[in-house]
Amino acid sequence: LTHILSTLERAKHMRTLPIQLSNTKYNVLIGSQLLQQAGALITPILSQKKVFIIADENVAALHLQTLTNSLNIAQIDFETILIPPGENTKSFKYFEQVINQLLEKNVERKTPIIALGGGVTGDLSGFAAATVLRGVPFIQIPTTLLSQVDSSVGGKTGINTHTGKNLVGAFYQPQIVIADTHTLNTLPQRELVAGYAEIVKAGLIDDSELFEWCEQYSQKILSKDHQYLDEAVERACAFKARIIKNDEFEQNSKGRNLLNLGHSLGHTLEAELGYDGRILHGEAVALGCCLIFKLCTQLGICPKEDTDRVLRHFQSVALPTSIKDIDTPLKASNLLQHLQHDKKVKDGKLLFILVNGIGKTFTSQDVNEKDLLELLINDGC
Ligand code: NAD
Ligand code: MG
Repeated sequence: LTHILSTLERAKHMRTLPIQLSNTKYNVLIGSQLLQQAGALITPILSQKKVFIIADENVAALHLQTLTNSLNIAQIDFETILIPPGENTKSFKYFEQVINQLLEKNVERKTPIIALGGGVTGDLSGFAAATVLRGVPFIQIPTTLLSQVDSSVGGKTGINTHTGKNLVGAFYQPQIVIADTHTLNTLPQRELVAGYAEIVKAGLIDDSELFEWCEQYSQKILSKDHQYLDEAVERACAFKARIIKNDEFEQNSKGRNLLNLGHSLGHTLEAELGYDGRILHGEAVALGCCLIFKLCTQLGICPKEDTDRVLRHFQSVALPTSIKDIDTPLKASNLLQHLQHDKKVKDGKLLFILVNGIGKTFTSQDVNEKDLLELLINDGC
């Protein structure tokens, strides 16, 4: 009885966010200790009582047992595939290894793949699910704040190549996303704060109320007060759902592209600093957003008060807001060089997400190199 009562108690606190797309619909479930119930939660969508779990070694050591216990209770068979942690795993090499293991272990057309982990695991597993046997069902159980608020929702999957990040992949939607915010208790604080940057980014794009709410409650969110943390995940996913609903395949310049606010410059910083932890994706995005606000103030299209407010907020949670905050000296010409490899190039011209203020973004192909150079040099390059 106590077990049933505690399950009911937890279910009461579960938030369900439906994602409605043109020819698919799935739920994002958000709450504390959902991993314990994952077997029961996925049962309604299974057409076979067997799943493959893909997890990185860090996450497997911490959370795999909880997931497999819940599968045992729900009488679901499973096989596990482990991958090394880190961005370098999102590669052709590990993609091939995962695909070979799935095939050697006799994956079938109806056998779902569960990604248990952060964005690296989700992106690689999703791409494997999209391609093995031309597509098997896919389930996301994100365990980083970044993956809960961003990468697990929306259906972008893929790997990196030596030319750049996320250059090979597929749009492939999951059948369910289970975001257990309790799993974040084991996440290093620096990773938590980096993921938080993507929540703030959502507010900066077109939800000034969300940004204001972040200003008010950032300390509660980052100290993992579940009332606020769960609401933050829900608000960021709801924001993302709203954007992808109208632009599932990134074809419309006012749609998904806007999600890349701060990302072109952010990716440039990541590429220049390397993917070995000197800068985390979320940190690069925070700094990238700050640079875009500064650029737009420099261009006279965004009030300085808004830019100062954005910088103040990121500073208050110890995210980088200036090139000077990076320990490594950076050369403007190298950064500009990396920009040329950005995916968001149309007719040879880079697409930038610019701002007229907090919550007011638009796309532009008219940013010139001279202005970017001035921005980077003034910022400390
Ligand atoms: P990640 O998957 O590398 O996870 C970060 C680190 O935290 C890893 O070392 C991991 O082992 C560890 N970890 C994960 N969960 C943990 C937990 N609960 N407790 C302790 N440690 C844990 O990185 P990430 O920040 O989750 O994701 C970054 C990736 O996501 C990038 O490759 C980025 O390109 C991608 N991404 C994709 C999308 C998309 O739409 N598909 C969107 C944003 C980012
Ligand atoms: Mg991102």
